[in-house]
Amino acid sequence: MAMLKAQPNIPQVNVPDEDGYLRVPYEFCKSAKRFSDCLVRSLIYSFSCVKGKPEARCAMSFSEMQTKLHYSRSTVNAAIRAATKSGAFSQDKSNRFRASYKYLPAEEEDETSEAPRQTLPSFTVEFYLLHTQFIGKDGVPAYLPKSAVAVLGLIKTHHENGGFKGSDRKIARTLGYTSKTVRKAIKLLLGLQLIFRPKEARGINGAKLSSYIPNERALRKAKRAFERDAGNSSRRKTAEEMRIEREGYYSRLQTAERDRVEKLENELKADSRYFELDRRRKQLEIETAKAEVFAPLRLPGLQRELADVYTERARRMAQLGFSEEDLKPKFLCAACEDTGFRKSDGRMCDCFRRGGQT
Ligand SMILES: [Zn+2]
Repeated sequence: MAMLKAQPNIPQVNVPDEDGYLRVPYEFCKSAKRFSDCLVRSLIYSFSCVKGKPEARCAMSFSEMQTKLHYSRSTVNAAIRAATKSGAFSQDKSNRFRASYKYLPAEEEDETSEAPRQTLPSFTVEFYLLHTQFIGKDGVPAYLPKSAVAVLGLIKTHHENGGFKGSDRKIARTLGYTSKTVRKAIKLLLGLQLIFRPKEARGINGAKLSSYIPNERALRKAKRAFERDAGNSSRRKTAEEMRIEREGYYSRLQTAERDRVEKLENELKADSRYFELDRRRKQLEIETAKAEVFAPLRLPGLQRELADVYTERARRMAQLGFSEEDLKPKFLCAACEDTGFRKSDGRMCDCFRRGGQT
């Protein structure tokens, strides 16, 4: 905790427990080797250390973490491995479909003592900053490097808590970056006009005090655009889910009906008299079809015989408690015959929407 002493003006941040924020404890910036490690740890921390919810876990899949933090799978993989290896993050594999993670430093044996884990001094990083392309001077939209996201998060957090005053070197120390990286990030953020440097803070007596102010207007705009896109993609997902649901509905109807007919056929065929009549029917149908082409003279006789077999079969079915009709597929919807597409014009039927009624 030595680094905390070096930063007396670090504010205690209470971040709303919602998806838009990530709490990044300062000490993670120090202890993690790479900033990707730090962000993945912060993600676990943010989701598993929730006030009043000792049972909270970060149960995100790797691909969800990838999406959330905008990292590659291998980066997330490596970060998770490093986090669990560090001993401060426990992995729960009791759910065989999905592991979950919790920030649980080894010295905190007592799981019920929630307080210390929730109050790690942190700054916040808002997710939209990881997913927004900003247009620079060259006119090319580009994502912010993670270092710039971190610097901006730090500046923004401190601004909301009374303002950040300190050298670039101090920012570097806080984030575990080199001064060069921080200077580059600040230059980029100033260039993109995502932060300002107020006039009065410019080099007083050579004391390199910097005070940066986030450009709230530009950031709000970016956040709104991100949320709009997120809303659109969730609507797209709903449409996709609707399609799957719709296709599933018709497929289930068709399968159920096919199964019913097949079951009935098997039941009937168990009767030897029916079995014999049905075999004869099939045979005659083939012979009739052949005769139509090759032996028209035989046709009337075959047709009579076939009609007789049908009559006989129907009689036998009646004796068994069924009718010819039972062997025909029954449709819930006459318009599309449960295919989802109307027979009349081939267009999408709306019986699914209306709960399967014609
Ligand atoms: Zn229909």
